[in-house]
Parts: sequence; C-alpha cells; structure tokens
Amino acid sequence: CRGSTRPASAVKPSRVSSGARPPTNGKNRGGGASGKGSRTGGCSRSVNGDGKKSKKYEYEGPDPELAEMLERDVLERSPGVRWDDVAGLTQAKSLLEEALLLPLWMPEYFQGIRRPWKGVLLFGPPGTGKTLLAKAVATECGTTFFNVSSATLASKWRGESERMVRCLFDLARAHAPSTIFIDEIDSLCNARGASGEHESSRRVKSELLVQVDGVNNSSTNEDGTRKIVMVLAATNFPWDIDEALRRRLEKRIYIPLPNLESRKELIRINLRTVSPDVNIDGVAKRTEGYSGDDLTNVCRDASLNGMRRKIAGKTRDEIKMMSKDEISNDPVAMCDFREALKKVQPSVSQADIERHQKWFAAFGSA
Ligand code: ADP
Repeated sequence: CRGSTRPASAVKPSRVSSGARPPTNGKNRGGGASGKGSRTGGCSRSVNGDGKKSKKYEYEGPDPELAEMLERDVLERSPGVRWDDVAGLTQAKSLLEEALLLPLWMPEYFQGIRRPWKGVLLFGPPGTGKTLLAKAVATECGTTFFNVSSATLASKWRGESERMVRCLFDLARAHAPSTIFIDEIDSLCNARGASGEHESSRRVKSELLVQVDGVNNSSTNEDGTRKIVMVLAATNFPWDIDEALRRRLEKRIYIPLPNLESRKELIRINLRTVSPDVNIDGVAKRTEGYSGDDLTNVCRDASLNGMRRKIAGKTRDEIKMMSKDEISNDPVAMCDFREALKKVQPSVSQADIERHQKWFAAFGSA
C-alpha cells in the first residue's frame, strides 16, 4: 500500500510487467479464441495450487488470452506467508478467519443469512501488514490467490481495465475457491465526483461494483456446491473510497500500528537469534509509533552492523578477499539497535493515525 502522502516512490512495484498491454479481445483474433459469442475460452489446465493436489479448471469467459496474461501476472500460487509470520493483529486474524477462511472450508454453513460477506477491506496506515495479512490468508486457506494492484488495473491498461476486471472475476470463478486481493483499492474507486472523473475510470468502477455484487451468486461446481470467490481489498486511504464500493466491502477491518506486544513479536520474527545483551522489551518500548515496516527496517539495519564493523577500514580488494567465516553472522547486539534507531524514524504521522481511528469509528467493523 502507498504511503499516506502518496509519494511516487512508495508505490509498490506492480507485479505486472511495465508497459504491458492486454491482448485484443480473443473474438477479434484468428487464434486462441473460440469465436464471437462463444463462452468457452479454451484456457484449461491442471493447476498445482499447493504443490500437493492437482486441480482441473476451465476458464469459460470470452477473453482467453487476457485470462492467460492475468494468470501469468497476478496469480500467486502460494505466497508462503503464514499467520505466524504476521506479528500481533490477533483480532484482525480472527475476523479474517471468520470472514474469508470459514466460508471456504464450510460453504454449506455459510448460506442464507450467513452468506459470506461480499467483500472485506483492510485499512490502516502504510506498512502495518495489510498486504502481509492478505498473503497469509491466501496461504492459510490454500486457495488460488489473485494479487492485483489497483494502480495496475487503473492505469497500465487504460481503456481495457473494465474488460480486465470482468476477466479477473471470470478467471477467479474458474479457479474457485479463490481469493481476489486488490491492493490500493482507493486508486481504482475513489470518491471523486462525476465531474472530475475520467470516463474510463467511471466504467471500471461500475464494472467492479457489478462484479462484487454478483461474486457468489451464480456459478456452481459439478457437485452442486457454490463456487466461492472471496474479495479482499486494502487501502491506506479508506476515506477516499467511493461510497457505493464501501457498502459492498461489508467487513472493514482496521490494521493499526503494532502495540508493545506486537512489536516484541515482530523483533523476534525478524531476528531469530540476538545477542544476550539485547533488551527486546526496551527496543519495543523505544519504538512506539513505528509501523511494522519501520520496525522491520530497524531490525534490518541493526543486522547489517556486524558486517559494517568488520569491513571498516578495509580496502575494496580486502573486502572482496574476505572469507565467509570472516564475515560470519554475528548475532545482533544492543549497540546495533541503538545505532539503527538513530537512523530509522517512524514514518506514520499522528494526524494520519487519528484520521484512521475516526474512520474506523464511523465505518469500521469490530
Ligand atoms: P501495508 O500493506 O500495510 O502497507 P505491508 O504488509 O506491505 O504493509 O508490510 C510491509 C512490510 O513490513 C512487510 O513485508 C513486513 O516485512 C513488515 N511488517 C509490517 N507489519 C508486520 C507485521 N504485523 N508482522 C510482521 N511483519 C510486518
């Protein structure tokens, strides 16, 4: 997710290669597509989702080439992040478990009034672990995970985004059960009025609303059970989200800065072994106001200090000649943390935190 001040450099690199254009609609091409009006895309194969079981799926939309491109660029087979890799956020984890995992595990229970939420929104300051949580959801539920950045949907394939949104949902249904994660959703569905809004972005927004509305309405598997597609979105700017989309993202989960306990856990996750002189409680107390990302940067910087000490005063050639043993991994010491804390400052402002808390009070889910 982007930083609150929206610096360009803070935008996560897109998983879709830059400058890419979607292929033209299959029905206009000779190869690959099955012809005008056809609903059989012909994009069918065996997927090894978790590396254990192989599953056959069939994409049945009109855009098989675009589907293949999306598969290549936004489908993450196994992000490899587990619940335990995410420090703290216990409440968020249990909300996500109930909203996203249980409906996938026991679809027959989540019917009628207990039907799954149409969409789930993770919101909070940048660097608090929203993307990490989304990846953990994907790993924990073992379903296919489509990781899409809105910036990609909105800008990269201008004019084609609407088609891409439709194709994405078709593809997710073909892979069902699956999860679509849309990062930086605000940039796709901001609340700007019609006058300041580009026509194409209005169309993308409408398409997204239609797709989210119908996400679990229609298709069924061969055994008659519903094809479940979960929609998960994240933003650092919840107040920028269009009201119509906000209503559809029915569960809105606040991801705050880490508290004292979470900061201790995060240090332990980042540095499995530390020197006995390290006072983890002290570092955690000293880093109040740091985001998970800031604190990870502290740990990263501290962990480089041993190497810095070893190469100090050496020439480039001497450094290149150093053996692996010479540069061996010394455990991080308290002095390394002190040094790192001088360099890494918290990145989230108090004003941003207050704005999130206010939005949580108005629209958040507890
Ligand atoms: P966001 O999506 O909220 O902007 P990310 O999930 O991308 O933040 O977090 C950026 C990095 O910060 C992560 O890759 C991870 O290294 C670290 N991080 C943030 N929050 C946590 C957390 N709760 N537990 C472990 N690591 C975290």
